[in-house]
Amino acid sequence: MSQAFNLTTRKNNLRALSLDRGKARFDLVIIGGGITGAAVARDASLRGLKVLLLEKNDFAWGTSSRSSKLIHGGVRYLEHFEFGLVFESVSERARLWKLAPHLVKPLSFLFPAYKTSRLRFPMLVAGLWLYDLLALFRVPTLHKAFAQKRTTQEEPALRSENLEGSVKYWDASTNDSWITLSNIKDAQDAGALSISRMNVESVEWNSQVANRNDAFHKVKAYDVLENQNFEFEARVVVYAAGPWTDLLWDSSHPKLATTRGSHIVVNAEKLPIKNAVVLIHPTDERVLFAIPWEKHTIVGTTDIFDAAHPDQTQMSPQEVDYLLKAAEFYFPKNLLKKEDVLSTWTGLRPLLAPSKDAGTASDISREHHLEWQNPGRVLICGGKLTTHRRMAQDTIHCILQNTRHWEFPLGQENPLLDANSVTDHRPYPNFLAPTQKSSSQLPDLNDIKKILNEQMVLELEDFFVRRTDIFYKAPKNGLEYVESLKSIFLEVLGWNEARFAQSLEKYCEYLEKNIGKPLERRIIR
Ligand code: FAD
Repeated sequence: MSQAFNLTTRKNNLRALSLDRGKARFDLVIIGGGITGAAVARDASLRGLKVLLLEKNDFAWGTSSRSSKLIHGGVRYLEHFEFGLVFESVSERARLWKLAPHLVKPLSFLFPAYKTSRLRFPMLVAGLWLYDLLALFRVPTLHKAFAQKRTTQEEPALRSENLEGSVKYWDASTNDSWITLSNIKDAQDAGALSISRMNVESVEWNSQVANRNDAFHKVKAYDVLENQNFEFEARVVVYAAGPWTDLLWDSSHPKLATTRGSHIVVNAEKLPIKNAVVLIHPTDERVLFAIPWEKHTIVGTTDIFDAAHPDQTQMSPQEVDYLLKAAEFYFPKNLLKKEDVLSTWTGLRPLLAPSKDAGTASDISREHHLEWQNPGRVLICGGKLTTHRRMAQDTIHCILQNTRHWEFPLGQENPLLDANSVTDHRPYPNFLAPTQKSSSQLPDLNDIKKILNEQMVLELEDFFVRRTDIFYKAPKNGLEYVESLKSIFLEVLGWNEARFAQSLEKYCEYLEKNIGKPLERRIIR
């Protein structure tokens, strides 16, 4: 049964942090509550380490709620001969199908081949044989090659001019926010303290102690919600800050080359597809997707170098045009217009800075990178949503290797430090309320209460964007539900009218930035 994870949990966690006047100690303090930090917290706490995870926004607020929501091997990486990455990714995909069936669902893809395209039909067939082979054939059904006629039966909206045929294969879809939260809830249930809206401000090494085993990092953090400062101690600090890495990690060279990726959402009636369709953009020949999403369709993504501050990431109007152009080319019978765009989202890929000129943004590897820095800091960056569990395992192994000669962890009985496979066979907790679906509808009353009580909702934005998909899919992006939600938020979260109005104002700011068109504020005034 899912346990409470709400304002009261947060207050208890804060109390534990302020114990001993700044001397509360943790084996690991993790900076960043995206999928990477969440998975490290889960793995570490399941091994018995004393863990604190801090996230300056909502959990999954960064890249981990802004992905294409695919658990995939990455067919396109085969073009770059990244067989190791594909093998690791398809192995994790198979594991997640088994361990998190409520979060990771098989999704069929159709990859059409055109006479004018750089990837012709025989190449696609060969590529997909290799893809299924690397997966050791652990797929719902092996890929199938279709001739032109069968392809248009499969996807009637698809452009038929110059179409040679297609290959149908399987990957998976997920809800990136929910899989992040699932890791965090498992960690919290195993004893970790996970606190959102807590900004880590500094990490200093306290070496003023006689015994090496008494030396700790002093961490200072600021509670954004309650405007309070905190100070505590950590044996090891894990930097899992995704695109924020270079703002926090001390290094002479930037670790990352961040690239921006954006998506648009339209009603499925405007762009009806049965399978996810792989598109090669007619302008720059990049791979992107049209993805069915219940009663909606996603088109994305772009891939543009973006060195702006990660807090400020924003989709440009040119990106909407670029995505519409791909849709127009492949689905000429269903011409999409800007007005059809219901919502958008944009995120920064925390990609590793290449050692030499990488060419285009899409050519940069999606491998992850681990780095240990004495005394006791570890950086984990790069990687993919798909490989989060492996990234976490590698992080813990790196820490254990480098702390072999320490008394680590301190004061704990029988930690499972040697266990290689602590998360290999452990199912992901299913914390979802029964009517909490990927839809434009409000869950029913009891389920809204369950979400507020068990999923650490601290703002309306958390509810609309990362606990439900209402922001993306409802005709007015959730504003139509504000009046019905008000009394429930006031009752369950103990808010007053002013607190609700403040949260609504913040949500309106979020909408103005993310729906790609002016907000009709009159509906809530
Ligand atoms: P983030 O999710 O960004 O988490 C870092 C967190 O650190 C942030 O929430 C931030 O608020 C927090 N933080 C920063 N500074 C501080 C501080 N001082 N104190 C406290 N907290 C702090 N991968 C896939 O496998 N499949 C896909 O389909 C896919 N599609 C993608 C599409 C796009 C457009 C993008 C951008 C990425 C995609 N990825 C995909 C990659 C994947 O989403 C990322 O690799 C992954 O989400 C990165 O997670 P993270 O935890 O490392 O970073």
